[in-house]
This record gives sequence, C-alpha cells and structure tokens, in this order.
Amino acid sequence: MAFEGLTERLQNALSGLRRKGKVTDADLRETMREIRMALLEADVNFGVVKEFVRNVREKAAGAKVLDGLNPAQQIVSIVNDELTAMMGEAAVPLNKSAKIPTVIMMVGLQGAGKTTTAGKLALKLKTEENARPFMIAADVYRPAAIEQLTTLGEQIGVPVFELGTQVDPREIVKQGLAAAAEAKADYVFIDAAGRLQIDEALMQELVDVKEIAQPDEIMLVVDAMTGQNAVETAEGFDQRLDITGVTLTKLDGDTRGGAALSIRAVTGKPIKFVGQGEKMTDLDVFYPDRMASRILG
Ligand code: GDP
Repeated sequence: MAFEGLTERLQNALSGLRRKGKVTDADLRETMREIRMALLEADVNFGVVKEFVRNVREKAAGAKVLDGLNPAQQIVSIVNDELTAMMGEAAVPLNKSAKIPTVIMMVGLQGAGKTTTAGKLALKLKTEENARPFMIAADVYRPAAIEQLTTLGEQIGVPVFELGTQVDPREIVKQGLAAAAEAKADYVFIDAAGRLQIDEALMQELVDVKEIAQPDEIMLVVDAMTGQNAVETAEGFDQRLDITGVTLTKLDGDTRGGAALSIRAVTGKPIKFVGQGEKMTDLDVFYPDRMASRILG
C-alpha cells in the first residue's frame, strides 16, 4: 500500500503546526481544513471525514491542547488516535466455531478477488495453524471460477468440492458441507456466487446459502482500488447478509486509501484482512494502528 498523496498532504498540514511555537485557534482551524481536504481527496466517505474532524477538534479542546506544552505534537497524536479509531482500533480475528468445522462464506462482486482470497486464507490457516481447510465451489455464474478454485486447491494442497456449473448452488453447498464433515475438515470455505453488481436474485441466493450453511463468518471481499464503490458494496451486502468481516484486496495497487479509511466507520464491520498482491501468500491481518502510523508517515 502506498497512500503517498494522503501521507504527504497530512504531513504538510501537520508540519505547518510544528513550525509554530504557539498554536492559535485559527492555526488549528486551518490545519483541520487541510486535513479535511486531504481525506476527501483520498476518497474517504464524506460523513466519516466530517465526524473525524469534529472528534479531533473536540479532543483538542477538551484536553486544552492549545494552552499546554507542545500543542503540535499533541494534535499529531490525536489525529493518529482518531485515524486508528476510524479503522477500528485493534485487529479483529477470524470468527471461529467452538466445534469443527468453522464455516466461512466468501461473498463479493466479480473480480474483487473472492476466489483468490479464499485460497489465500485457506493456505494461511493451513500453514499457521496446521489446520485442515476444505473449499466448496459454489460460484456457478462466473464460467472459470470453479476451475480456478480447483487449480488453487491443487496448488495449496486443499481439497475442493465441486459439482460443475449446472447444479443449484444451494444443493452444492448442502452436499459440500456433508463432504467436508466426512473429511473432518476444521475450516470450510464456501466460494459463493459473485455478480457484476448487486442484484436481487443474487442476494436471495446468498441469503438461502447463509440459511443452509449457518456460517460463523460471512467474509465480504472488496477491491480497495474502487474506493467509495467498495464502501457502497459493503453497505449493500451488509444490509442483506449481515456480514461479519471484510477483506480488502488489491491494497498494493490502491494509491488513495478511501476504502481502507471508510469501510469500518460506515458499516461498523471490521476489515479483518488485506490482500497485497496476487501470490497466495500476499494476505495480511489488518492492524488499524499500524495502518494509521503508516498513513501519517
Ligand atoms: P473473484 O471474481 O472475486 O473471485 O476474483 P478473483 O479471485 O478471480 O480475482 C480477480 C483478479 O484479482 C485476479 O487476477 C487476482 O489475481 C487479482 N487479485 C486478487 N487479490 C489481489 C490482491 O490483493 N492484489 C492484486 N494485485 N491482485 C489481486
């Protein structure tokens, strides 16, 4: 990830303050105006920016920052804390079931990286926890999705259940879960259907699959490079499915950072993982505090 534009603009805004011995109320207002512009230009959600600016102002006033020693440093620290809070404070781990298997339903629009992320997560669990993941290929609409998942499974040594593209996904999931139980899998990934955009038929199918599979985790995969569209997608999926986590993909190609900074604040749902490349090992836990420090540079 390289949100250079945002980092540079925030640094400029804050270094203006640093140069001053005493910071006046007008200085603070000017700095907040620049920070507001920087966030909006990074494609951060409008409401989120508004709340952010209000919170920083309130905290600075509450702590009587301007009257204290080193006001600039204190404002930087408040900005850092608020950026972190915007993205959710601490890292949120994958939901796990008390008894095996943990069922993870992967959802998202076509091209977001859902199938790839299923493979990455399965590999992560396999290598880090010595787990026995299992994948169910239920994305029957994208012609190559099933073949792609099967190939991925072979590559990372994880079994894939598939019934081709002619069987109803609900049926695939039912049979797949039975096969996973037989294989004594401890994590089952359902690669559910993706479409080009949210439509009612797709959502109904996903609601049905959720009902059948009773997943512990509904992981929405969104493309960071689509900025506010990713945020809207997250809201749309969350309304119908009550998602439990988000994976933000293609952060390696995202230069602005709007999705990373908005999704948690808008939906209330945590970003749990970030994809940072096309390789199977390019998946990382999302740490809001580290991200905030990186953004501030
Ligand atoms: P799906 O339609 O949502 O299942 O999308 P795919 O899993 O097929 O991914 C679409 C494309 O995005 C593929 O070319 C992936 O290699 C690529 N991709 C997925 N995640 C990432 C990522 O984190 N970084 C980059 N650079 N590419 C990614």
